Amino acid sequence: MTESIADAVEAELVQLSKLLTEPGPRECLRCYLIRMLNEFGCNNTHRWTRQWRDSRAPRARSLIERLQRRGACCCDCEVIFNVFTDYPETSHPLPCAGVSRAGSTQPCDLRSRR
Ligand SMILES: [Zn+2]
Ligand SMILES: [Zn+2]
Repeated sequence: MTESIADAVEAELVQLSKLLTEPGPRECLRCYLIRMLNEFGCNNTHRWTRQWRDSRAPRARSLIERLQRRGACCCDCEVIFNVFTDYPETSHPLPCAGVSRAGSTQPCDLRSRR
């Protein structure tokens, strides 16, 4: 009995953490990274970039190599600092304006929201 409760709790936690770290259906890579870095921080890898890629743009195989060439050599925050440099100054993450098409690795146009 206790075992099945533990299993159920664990399954729930897995489900919950999946929900929390799942990119939104039209959330762009940049807004997703900002949201994840804000909530969970950076672990000095491209884990969030990889997670977004796997969920939203599985065919963008060279995405991380491309970002590395543009200055994000080692981790997710460098993607924000060195690649997506036009993010508006704000104290809290802005809601994503949505990618133009599914699978696009381009950031959304946040100015269109204002
Ligand atoms: Zn980092
Ligand atoms: Zn966005």
